[in-house]
Amino acid sequence: MQGVGFRPFVFNLARIFNISGFVLNDTEGVYIEAHAEDSALAQFISAISGQTPALAYITEVVVTDAPPSYADGFFIKESGETGRRGVFFSPDTAVCDDCLKEFFDPADRRYHYPFITCIHCGPRFSIVKDIPYDRRNTSMDSFSICASCAAEYSDPADRRFHVQPIACQSCGPSLTMKSIDGTEIVQGSLDTASRFVSLIKQNKIIAVKGVGGYLLACDAASDEAVSKLRQRKRRPFKPFAVMAASVLAARGIAVISPKEEELLESKERPIVLLKTKEALSPLVAPQVSTIGVMLPYIPFQRLLFEIDPTMILVMTSGNIAEEPIIYEDDAANSGFAGIADYIVSYDRDIIAQNDDSVLFVDDDIPLFVRRSRGYVPSPFQSEFSPVSILASGGDLKNTFALTSKDFTIVSQHLGDMAHPATQDAFQKTLAHYMRVFDIKPDVIVSDAHPEYMTTRLCDELAGTSGARRLRVQHHHAHAASVIEEYKLKGPVIGIIFDGTGYGLDGVLWGSEFLVTDGEDFTRAAHFSGFPLPGGEKALKDVWRTGLSLIHSCGATSALFEEYPQTDALLEMMDKKINCPLSCGMGRIFDGISSILGLSAYTSSEAEAALLLEEAAYRGNWTGKPFVIPQKDGVIQTEELTRYILGLLENGTAAEDIASAFHISIAATTLAAAEKIRGETGIGRIVISGGVFHNRMLFKVVRELLEKAGFTVFFSRRLPFNDGCLSYGQAAVARRLARKL
Ligand code: ZN
Ligand code: ZN
Ligand code: FE
Repeated sequence: MQGVGFRPFVFNLARIFNISGFVLNDTEGVYIEAHAEDSALAQFISAISGQTPALAYITEVVVTDAPPSYADGFFIKESGETGRRGVFFSPDTAVCDDCLKEFFDPADRRYHYPFITCIHCGPRFSIVKDIPYDRRNTSMDSFSICASCAAEYSDPADRRFHVQPIACQSCGPSLTMKSIDGTEIVQGSLDTASRFVSLIKQNKIIAVKGVGGYLLACDAASDEAVSKLRQRKRRPFKPFAVMAASVLAARGIAVISPKEEELLESKERPIVLLKTKEALSPLVAPQVSTIGVMLPYIPFQRLLFEIDPTMILVMTSGNIAEEPIIYEDDAANSGFAGIADYIVSYDRDIIAQNDDSVLFVDDDIPLFVRRSRGYVPSPFQSEFSPVSILASGGDLKNTFALTSKDFTIVSQHLGDMAHPATQDAFQKTLAHYMRVFDIKPDVIVSDAHPEYMTTRLCDELAGTSGARRLRVQHHHAHAASVIEEYKLKGPVIGIIFDGTGYGLDGVLWGSEFLVTDGEDFTRAAHFSGFPLPGGEKALKDVWRTGLSLIHSCGATSALFEEYPQTDALLEMMDKKINCPLSCGMGRIFDGISSILGLSAYTSSEAEAALLLEEAAYRGNWTGKPFVIPQKDGVIQTEELTRYILGLLENGTAAEDIASAFHISIAATTLAAAEKIRGETGIGRIVISGGVFHNRMLFKVVRELLEKAGFTVFFSRRLPFNDGCLSYGQAAVARRLARKL
């Protein structure tokens, strides 16, 4: 890994053990030539592996004999280029305590300098243009280093020895704030921060350039500010994340366990979903009992909270609707017109855009909802393959994956490929990764969905490059991502619950019980399908799915009588016009949520399911769990609907029915798994799919399965949702490639 202080670390060890020679970064890794007595050499080599710096990790040490090319002393040599690139560089990391101490020390020459950094912290991934990781290959290349910084840079005893983004007030980037109409300009970090805080109190919305892009900030305690942001961003429901000064400050708004505290304060500084304690503005996360919280991770954010430690800021990705995060300054100036009142920016380019990562903690295990800043581009070890693979992921929550030799790199979160801007980001980011990791894919793999944008892009790429082209069924890829993470051998039961995914029969799958070894799969069970009247439209207007569920079980209900075109939709379903069949668990959640009157029209993905889950937390079902009957591997969704309608007719409260529904799905899942175990003897289960981000369902299903003696595996390095697809596709392709 480059940019983590490895060469200075080696240099200092060489001095301790009286070694002569040199160290250099080349495009394959670190090369050290060392000459000394055998015993000193042995100690030197073991110290290299034993005392590795915080941000570094060693994948392999190869030792060979060589004639000495230096007689005396030890040097750090200029980076060399070899033919093959295969080296990693570090993710972006939160500012460290040593740098912060200097940042707040009036006597320090970097007092309040917002781009303070050292070997243990600061930007990496976001500023790298190419490898080797040298200043000339980062977006620091336009700043020439001053004499004081140069002295630190070349002093092996200094914390900034060979720190590529080294900078100070007199030679590095600087920060400015301007009003969106350009009439007010504030310069300098302290003046900007002071003005920022007072503008926030006046309910202004401010776009702030961060690590991987711009964030939009406003006062999380102000209804006026938050509702203004919601209107301008066209985001009526989806919860906003907030930033608090410290864990202590965050305890005022959320319940925080020791594990959650550790995660909040980690050098990755992700957004952590926490149980809400006391509402800020109810508009921050309307109708949900969790809130995404993060702590400041760059010096400027620290300065804001130094001025007002009690402030809680909404800090949400600077984008419009579901488009990718804005990270270029020109795009910010035009894109934030009409959204932000002020823009805080600085004159160093962000090379790779990167959203904040999102995790939650269940049973003391951190689980990803979005893996991005702080974690990307750390590689995953995989079994060696001579074949390089590009896996495109899917069209929602897109990430792609590239493999080479014995590692896989999964990209940052790129978003929804329906947007042309996301397609651009995909192409740009892919080209960037292929360059910096020097991977030319021999195999290109996508989802099996013929309409996916990613499928078409892969067709084009394979057409021009001549790479082999593979497709992997959506839920198979979900299961394979977990199999790959744990390196499981032999068959497992894959339980995949998600919104949608193209099935082998053209139907939209998504309530899958697969038997798979990661290479191939059979579909052992699934819920029965039902029409989605109007197709895509039913994903937002979830009452249509509710109507469909009722219609599919042969019941009539007055529930949706006053909705528009109900009769027309019923006729469409009878005549099978524009009514694609789905058995997605996410769609069942949508439909039941609307039947219970919890949602009808939604503005964001999984909104109806989220409200159903929230209702279940408020409710309490103490009755027997309803195990939905199964006929030849088809779990009867109609029986579930009848059961829910029955409870409604009995006058059971919607909250209690929501609870009964979750328990019923979990009990049915257990019954289906036990049936498959009875037939196949398989006792290992992998769980995946976005529906399992429903924490209640995940918890109950996992508990029931483990109590019944199953061993349950689930992703710990990637999200359950489609963010894991690319990794799974790559894993399947690697196995299939052996046979090509
Ligand atoms: Zn530092
Ligand atoms: Zn300087
Ligand atoms: Fe999926």
